[in-house]
Amino acid sequence: MSQEFDLVVLGGGTGGYVAAIRASQLGMKVAVVEKAKMGGTCLHRGCIPSKALLRSAEVFATLKEGDKYGVTAENIGLDFSKVQSRKDGIVDQLHKGIHYLMKKGNITVIEGFGRVMGPSIFSPQAGAVRVETPSGEQEMLVPRFLLLATGSRPRTLPGLAIDGEYVMTSDEALQLEQLPASVIIVGGGVIGIEWASMLSDFGVSVTVVEYADRILPTEDEEISKEMARLLKKRKISIVTGAKVLPETWEKADGKVTIQAETSSGVQSYTAEKLLVSVGRQANVENLGLEATEIRVEQGVIRVNQYYQTAESHIYAIGDVIGGLQLAHVASHEGILAVEHMAGLPVEPLDYNKVPKCIYGRPEIAGVGLTEAEARRQGFDVKVGKFSFKPLGKALVYGENDGFVKIVADAKTNDLLGVHMIGPHVTDMISEAGLAKVLDATPWEIGQTIHPHPTLSEAIMEAALAVDGKAIHS
Ligand code: FAD
Repeated sequence: MSQEFDLVVLGGGTGGYVAAIRASQLGMKVAVVEKAKMGGTCLHRGCIPSKALLRSAEVFATLKEGDKYGVTAENIGLDFSKVQSRKDGIVDQLHKGIHYLMKKGNITVIEGFGRVMGPSIFSPQAGAVRVETPSGEQEMLVPRFLLLATGSRPRTLPGLAIDGEYVMTSDEALQLEQLPASVIIVGGGVIGIEWASMLSDFGVSVTVVEYADRILPTEDEEISKEMARLLKKRKISIVTGAKVLPETWEKADGKVTIQAETSSGVQSYTAEKLLVSVGRQANVENLGLEATEIRVEQGVIRVNQYYQTAESHIYAIGDVIGGLQLAHVASHEGILAVEHMAGLPVEPLDYNKVPKCIYGRPEIAGVGLTEAEARRQGFDVKVGKFSFKPLGKALVYGENDGFVKIVADAKTNDLLGVHMIGPHVTDMISEAGLAKVLDATPWEIGQTIHPHPTLSEAIMEAALAVDGKAIHS
């Protein structure tokens, strides 16, 4: 027996479930097929659990520095099982929230693995979807539109098997029952650095081994340099320009050792655990794509600017199409895809206006071109910078490392990019995002009254600094 829907969404992650809600708002009859848990990577293995652990790590580290605030605390301890159960409780609450929203939107949630049967005899449009439920039954869904939102999984290195005991990805690391004394992190990108900061705050000895010549190689150079400096100050060891030799890994006496080619020859690194964080791989396998015209290139599904695949009634969004693999990107793409299906006018997403964040101590956030990107693109660049060092609110917080950097076009005064490292900058970047969307100039940001004392004053000062008019520097 088959069921008909206006839209079937394959994958109930951030992209998929948000798209389903928008479709239901637009009056569509919607089903979401999810093989595991609604909420996907972000809720169960990504954004939320990692931030919950980071918060516990931050509280632990702050308590240990209590003296700095005139707070005396004795016998500061860590109950890691409580840390984990707090994290699980937050995930659980949000998971229930998604099911509530599905119910409220009259959205059918089907548990099982979905596969496209091709533009088929069942439907002249999106084709049919066969769902294999956990009990082994088969269900056939016939949608008018199909949205592929199957997400991604951790990339691994050939020769370096994830055994979950010595070698892990972020998936296994999130489930650790006990903290190890030491960890080697292979990969100094967004996830690697987040874990480095968190584990170090929990008291774990951390070594980051990165292939590029700097950690966070896609960030503004000054910002990645500042992050490296601050992490090293916290005794995190950072090795850059190091090519890990995956096949050299071995375990002995409760420790794992791996070698890497570095500028000073082949070096060995030993720790209790090894965390592989070398990027993400899109989930494109076993989806039945071969029965369609849909193209997979460089491991991701090819789509146009409205997220249509080569089969115009089948759309794809989120991590499975590559690009910026972020939760807020997946959800926005999902909304645009569904609005396009509904025939609404859709403005294609300008990825240059998407804020990107890195969590840890301190935080990093940016939107738009970095200084180097702007120069490479031929802009005549002017830069305004303001440090958190003298800022009242940063001093009050006791966290005044970092700065805000504004990149502007010297000819037109256009705002090209805003990049920040410092306390709570992930909560401040939306102002810069709005400025980009509204095409504001640094002058306009500088004229916007920022309340005192706030951390956001650093944005105003950096904007004024673009034309040499910062007040407090
Ligand atoms: P996913 O969330 O991966 O969801 C895909 C869903 O599809 C999954 O639930 C999967 O089970 C299901 N599925 C797959 N195949 C099938 C099938 N055939 N049938 C049925 N169901 C299927 N992003 C941020 O913006 N901020 C952060 O702070 C952040 N932190 C992160 C931290 C970590 C450790 C990780 C790993 C990622 C983080 N991300 C963060 C990235 C973010 O999690 C992803 O970009 C986001 O989850 C992508 O959403 P999605 O809907 O495309 O895919």
